[in-house]
Amino acid sequence: MTERRYDPTTGEWVTFATHRQNRTYKPADDFCPLCPSRADGGPTEVPYPSFEVVTFDNRFPSFSPAPPEPAVPASVLYPVEPAVGRCEVVVYSEDHHATFADLDAERVRMLVDVWADRWEILATEQSIRYVMPFENRGSTVGTTLSHPHGQIYGYPEIPTRPRQELAAAAAHHRSTGRCVYCDVAANEVASGERVVARAGGWLAWVPFSARFPYEVRMAPTSHHSCLPELDDPARDGLAELLSTVVAAYDAMWGFPLPYVMAFHSRPTDGSGEWDPISHLHVEIDPPNRSADKLKYLAGSELAGGAFVTDVAPEAAAADLRRALRRAAS
Ligand SMILES: [Zn+2]
Ligand SMILES: [Zn+2]
Ligand SMILES: [Zn+2]
Repeated sequence: MTERRYDPTTGEWVTFATHRQNRTYKPADDFCPLCPSRADGGPTEVPYPSFEVVTFDNRFPSFSPAPPEPAVPASVLYPVEPAVGRCEVVVYSEDHHATFADLDAERVRMLVDVWADRWEILATEQSIRYVMPFENRGSTVGTTLSHPHGQIYGYPEIPTRPRQELAAAAAHHRSTGRCVYCDVAANEVASGERVVARAGGWLAWVPFSARFPYEVRMAPTSHHSCLPELDDPARDGLAELLSTVVAAYDAMWGFPLPYVMAFHSRPTDGSGEWDPISHLHVEIDPPNRSADKLKYLAGSELAGGAFVTDVAPEAAAADLRRALRRAAS
């Protein structure tokens, strides 16, 4: 069963992809589907003996270009749609044991180009209204394959969180005439207390009202709505800053910190109205609140959608800056 069902009580679409229950789950290293296909092993998802960065369609997609018809009929109360869209895998390295922090500067820069190119290609597809590159790192955030990789989803509608952000950005634009992220970035640069690092026109900071204790937001300080708009120096800046933030995370407690990292950009529904209020940014949410404690989404967060956080964003930013200095020394 692959279909999208609409919840008239919340206004949200939920996608059902029951075939994903059978997807490859934490295979032994010898059977990793993201490793290169080598003569001494079996074939993998990547039909090359060696590679730098590779992208391909997910074999267990939540959304696909020609999905089956929904299994249940739609009604006025319960709209149902085919799960049309795209799910791509981006493998960062042929080295099974590498993590993002092990990638050299040139490789991270190449990844930025790959994300931008795939974003642009998926954005032109008629059925896709939102393209989101993301990475889940670590088993605590549900990664089923340890080989370093990320994913790109092309959604048939704007997902809930970006939709809420765009509504807030539109309200800010109506009342001030400005982009909310341009204002936030300028404010963070001016105050400096939540800034983690800067590089080539990009800023990384802990949000004023972070939902996760060590949440980091990254954005260009000038207005760009999507990755393909970035020129070479801005792409260099993004690559450098991503490596810096991950280095800070990994130095903080001495292990690769699990996280969910995602790019938010303008919707791709062909309407030009999004550009002034869509400011490209990266959201990085680690689930840890300390080296050995996780922040679980529980009653208030899950049932109320109301986050309660036990680390002050200013203290988190200071921790990350200290970790960076340690990593550099
Ligand atoms: Zn592998
Ligand atoms: Zn802006
Ligand atoms: Zn966002």
